[in-house]
Amino acid sequence: MKKAIVVGSGFGGIASALRLRANGYDVEIYEKLDQIGGRARVFKKSGYTFDAGPTVITAPFLFDELFELFSKKREKYIKFVKLEPWYRFYFSENNKHFDYSESLKKTEKEIAKFNKEDIEGYYKLVAFSEKIFNVGFLKLSTAPFHNFFFMLKQLPSLFKLKSYHTVFGLVGKFIKNKQLRQALSIQPLLLGGNPTSTTSIYNLIHFLERKWGVHYAVGGTGGLIKALKKLMIEENIKISIKSEVTKLITDRNKVLGIEVNNKKKIFADKVVINADPAFTYKNLLKTPYNKKWNQNRLSKLDYSMGLFVLYFGTKKKYKNIAHHTIWMGKRYEGLLDDIFNKQILAEDFSLYLHRPTATDKTMAPKNCDCFYVLSPVPNLLAKINWKVEAETYKNKIIKALENTILPNLQKNIDVCFYMTPDDFKNDYLSLNGTGFSISPIFTQSAWFRFHNKSEDFKNLYFVGAGSHPGAGVPGVLSSAKVLENIIANE
Ligand SMILES: Cc1cc2nc3c(=O)[nH]c(=O)nc-3n(C[C@H](O)[C@H](O)[C@H](O)COP(=O)(O)OP(=O)(O)OC[C@H]3O[C@@H](n4cnc5c(N)ncnc54)[C@H](O)[C@@H]3O)c2cc1C
Repeated sequence: MKKAIVVGSGFGGIASALRLRANGYDVEIYEKLDQIGGRARVFKKSGYTFDAGPTVITAPFLFDELFELFSKKREKYIKFVKLEPWYRFYFSENNKHFDYSESLKKTEKEIAKFNKEDIEGYYKLVAFSEKIFNVGFLKLSTAPFHNFFFMLKQLPSLFKLKSYHTVFGLVGKFIKNKQLRQALSIQPLLLGGNPTSTTSIYNLIHFLERKWGVHYAVGGTGGLIKALKKLMIEENIKISIKSEVTKLITDRNKVLGIEVNNKKKIFADKVVINADPAFTYKNLLKTPYNKKWNQNRLSKLDYSMGLFVLYFGTKKKYKNIAHHTIWMGKRYEGLLDDIFNKQILAEDFSLYLHRPTATDKTMAPKNCDCFYVLSPVPNLLAKINWKVEAETYKNKIIKALENTILPNLQKNIDVCFYMTPDDFKNDYLSLNGTGFSISPIFTQSAWFRFHNKSEDFKNLYFVGAGSHPGAGVPGVLSSAKVLENIIANE
């Protein structure tokens, strides 16, 4: 039996391990941390269960497929429930909120609170998003993009879909109200992109959400990882945790295997990297055969933003807080400019607040609430000293929430801890401490992104946020499908 090694156990790594197994490979996963899941790992503290990263589950069929590979039903392992509303946008500037939901009737009413005329614009936006979705998601997200001629062939349709526009630019063509424009263009931030520079292909998210809804995995995203782990064990995939791959073993331009924790050598027919491709090319392939993604090129790439994630449990329930709240600060373009271009830690922020206990009371002790709040910040290229800044930044966020939607928050906090870009660098080996590898700009998408099949090395492949199609749970699950296509055609 041919053997495949998967380095890293994020959703992309898990999905490719399962797909390789279904294709008859003997599969082994090596994960640096003490649990699997990557950014979807779980912190358990004092009875609270904190999902560390992804919380919004869209395109659930991508999970169903992984179970169906082995003629199994996902529902028997993990349940998904639809959320209502999908998201609540809270504008701190004027204390208004916008509930965005599956029901178009309700969404119309909410849009009317801001600008009645934008109802028509919204429908036009969704209709245009459907066109992008038909090409960008249905046709291209699972297509291998390692062939330049394939990329050339796609350019006319990408231009027709105006993918040279940015997400914010395209939304602005349909929506007039300032706050609605912000709400409807914020999605790239959950994938590491600046809405004012991310290619408008990502507007397909509007239609993707309408087509399949916004879901929550009961038991949290960690429950989903647990279900996938069970499936992997049943299918005899070997999982090794606390196993950092410290080197890729090569013979000229061929990858032969891996070295784990600077000691053990393991050989395989194929090595699939779910770790950060930029980190991998920089640190695990120190050989003159590593040509395309050399240090010089890596230093010129545009890296996604960093994240400050504050996890906290409260001794009381904040019943009025929706499952997903986007807390908008007063500035939008200016704040994005500070994070992505000026790379400074601004005094203000916009936040994503997760309250899983709105849907699932098992995530916290009785009568308590479980939260995390995510604040996009510059990545480590900004040289912010997080050891100095973190506590002040945390207190500012708590104060802002306390003064608006979470009264008396400070005195009700039971447990509280955070992750800064330093932790993304140290825990996930993410180059420059990014939240999502390289940015999803046009010149770093598809053929321009890290290829799923290495350009320089035989037997070496990439899945996950840094490779095509890109970050986000649907993106990394799709990258495993791309990889399956590539390997099946070899
Ligand atoms: C806070 C946060 C919130 C998010 N919210 C959402 C959301 O709601 N919806 C959504 O769709 N997406 C969301 N995302 C994005 C999404 O989580 C990621 O894009 C996706 O999970 C990344 O998966 P991946 O396959 O690239 O692997 P990762 O999750 O990045 O995992 C890679 C794994 O490789 C391991 N590794 C690295 N180097 C080595 C090595 N040398 N040896 C062994 N192991 C190694 C790491 O420890 C890690 O476990 C969010 C991300 C974050 C951080």
